[in-house]
Amino acid sequence: MRLLLLAPPGAGKGTQGERLADWSGARHIAAGDLLRAQARAGGALGQQITAYQARGDLVPDQIVLDVLTPVVVEAAAEGGYILDGFPRTLPQATAAAELAARLGVTLDAAIYLYAPEAVLTRRLLDRASQGGRSDDKADVIRHRLQVFAETTGLLVPYYTERGILVAVDADQPPDSVTADIQSRLSGLSLPGGAHL
Ligand code: ADP
Repeated sequence: MRLLLLAPPGAGKGTQGERLADWSGARHIAAGDLLRAQARAGGALGQQITAYQARGDLVPDQIVLDVLTPVVVEAAAEGGYILDGFPRTLPQATAAAELAARLGVTLDAAIYLYAPEAVLTRRLLDRASQGGRSDDKADVIRHRLQVFAETTGLLVPYYTERGILVAVDADQPPDSVTADIQSRLSGLSLPGGAHL
């Protein structure tokens, strides 16, 4: 199965991505985690990534593609992938489509997890109060939500036009969100449907 999770910060794409990977046997590829790992590795590239992530700005497309492409290629050759947080811009989406075409694979669905902004903010602030990530601070959270609204949100019409958008209400307990995603996916006739 090849899916992507399109969701604002706080919608639960990490949680759902892990669950969908366990369920389907596809690999969970979390862009933010891979970029944080690259940041921890240090060097000039690591420092650059750290600065973007700390501000809640998107890391430049070319860096993201350099980090993500080899991982996606490897997963495509195995049991498929659940892309969590990639693509996040139109140029990334175009590059991802070109990569898939080159690999001879197609995306089964783009799952859009939506929730009211007040819910997302509350969840992220809760995570911050439990020691969460360094970008879980009120001003950075606000900025990340704004970046989603202005940039990544444009991918919702993009994948709708391509006929693969599956919108799921993320303002529910995690188990209900998982169940909704699974039932929506089971209703699709996927070319790689053997995985379901
Ligand atoms: P969240 O969705 O809660 O912001 P992520 O771990 O997915 O959490 O992303 C954290 C940060 O990593 C983003 O604010 C951004 O700086 C960077 N990032 C993750 N994915 C991408 C991407 N596809 N393109 C650019 N930057 C990204």
